[in-house]
Formats: sequence, structure tokens, C-alpha cells
Amino acid sequence: MSVPLSASIADETSAEPVTRSRPALSPSRAADFKQCPLKYRLRAIDRVPEPPTRAAVRGTVVHAVLEDLFGLPAAERGPDRAAELVPGAWERVRAGREGLDELVAAGGPEALFEEVRRLVAGYYELEDPTRFDPDGLEERVEVDLDGEIPLRGFVDRIDVAPNGLLRVVDYKTGRAPGPQHEARALFQLKFYALVILRTRGILPAQLRLIYLADKVLLTYTPDREELDRFARILTALWQAILDAGRTGDFPPQRNSMCRYCDFHALCPEFGGTPPPYPGWPTRDATTTDIDLGLPLVRTPEDV
Ligand code: SF4
Repeated sequence: MSVPLSASIADETSAEPVTRSRPALSPSRAADFKQCPLKYRLRAIDRVPEPPTRAAVRGTVVHAVLEDLFGLPAAERGPDRAAELVPGAWERVRAGREGLDELVAAGGPEALFEEVRRLVAGYYELEDPTRFDPDGLEERVEVDLDGEIPLRGFVDRIDVAPNGLLRVVDYKTGRAPGPQHEARALFQLKFYALVILRTRGILPAQLRLIYLADKVLLTYTPDREELDRFARILTALWQAILDAGRTGDFPPQRNSMCRYCDFHALCPEFGGTPPPYPGWPTRDATTTDIDLGLPLVRTPEDV
């Protein structure tokens, strides 16, 4: 399945009435709420548009290249061919969102291509893509946990070995986390492992994060009891989100990621004022990319 690069985000500045589908819980939105409830509200409920960053564009293009690479016959997935895929992947990302040309203007697309090629070249130090065929690429995974908690996400890659063992893989173009931030990274993979366990009935044998910039693999083996505990954590988190959604109480919580946050003008911690709370969206509609942590261009946290 392709990443829906051309899907649309509700535009708060549009003259058309804004439609706001019911939020779902993705790893990204769960992390937002845990980190700062106001950030969650502005992203998932108000849907305030956020300008893409250059790093996010670069990460989105890297993901597109790796997806295209695995679309080729195994024998053709060498590093030179991967490098050739970069301009096409960039065009695909560029077609999905206006304003990216200005973002890469410094140095032009060639400078961006070089950065992407370096990251993709690093991938070959960690895996040999000619030796296996993934079972799924950019696969949408979803389940209503216990019939009522909407878990949604996109998994970069799912591998299934001939003996049926399943591996969940996520690529990262940012730096590998220190030990104190590993939990956040694993949260995402446990989320996907739980959704796969509940939908396919298979406990993933391995969760793998691939940090392309640092050429580091982070692998983890989940167990069923742990995922059951994780389900209870998500249940409590969703309940907290629903409670806040009812009252509109989404307090700002200053944290180390504030410097990357686009909402300073709407945040009391930085002298701003949030817009009036629009209420919890009740419209039952297709979950949008922003619920999934996959806006047209990924956020810095998602690449
Ligand atoms: S700037 Fe910090 S406190 Fe304010 S909304 Fe963003 S993450 Fe929250």
C-alpha cells in the first residue's frame, strides 16, 4: 500500500466549512498527549496546520525511496538503483504538498537529494534488501481496542519469515535515542505490535527500529503479557483524552520538545492564547493522516 502523500488535511483557513473527523489514537498522537495535552488538542482537535520542516521533507523522501526500492524485483535493489530512485520519490512527495520548493531552495533539490542518498546508503550497512521480500510496506493497521478505542497507524514495513515469524520495522532518519528516550521509540513499536496481535492474532517475534543517520538497529522482542499491560496503558490514556475532550481542559506542559513546537503563538507558556475550544469532534468519518501521525509531510518526530 502506498503512503497517501496526497491526502488532505482539514484547512482551518479555508472558506469552506471545516469538517473534523473523530480523533483516533496513533503512536504520534498518544505521544503528543503524554508530552503536552495542548499540543495534542491543537493537532488532533483544532487541526491547526503546521508548516513542514526541511528535516521532515528529507525524512518523507527517504521513506518514499525505501518503499519504491522494495517495489523492485529483489535482484535490482542494489545501492546504485536506490540512489536513482531519489528524484522520483522527491517528485511524489512534492506533488502532495505545495510550498516544498521554497523549503529546499537553499542549495536546490540536488542538495536535498545528496542528503537523502547518504541516508539511503547508510541503510545498506544495516540490511541487505536483495535477500528478502517484505510482507507489507507502509501498511495501514487499525483496530478498535476492546471494541471502543480506535487505534490507527501506518507501519513502514512488515516482514514475515518462511516459518511465519513476523517482524515490525520502522525507519528513522533522526538521531538514535539515548537510553532515556528509548521508551518513547519502543512505545511506537509496541503500539503496532498490539494492533497486529489483535488483528492478525500473531505476536510479532521482533520489533525493529532502523536509525539511518547513526546506522543503528534497535530491536526488541515483545511478549504477550507485556502487550496486554500496554493495552491497559492505552485504555487509560484514551480515557484521559476523552475526559479532556469533554471538558476542553488541555493544559500546556512545557517540555524539552517545546523548541520544535509550532504552536508558541497559541501557547500560554510562550505568551500566546489558544483559540476557543471547538469541542470534541463527533463526526464519524474516515480517519485522516494527521490522526495517524502521517500528515502530507511527516512531522519531525515521525521521521
Ligand atoms: S510550546 Fe510546549 S507547552 Fe506549548 S503547546 Fe507546544 S509543546 Fe505544549
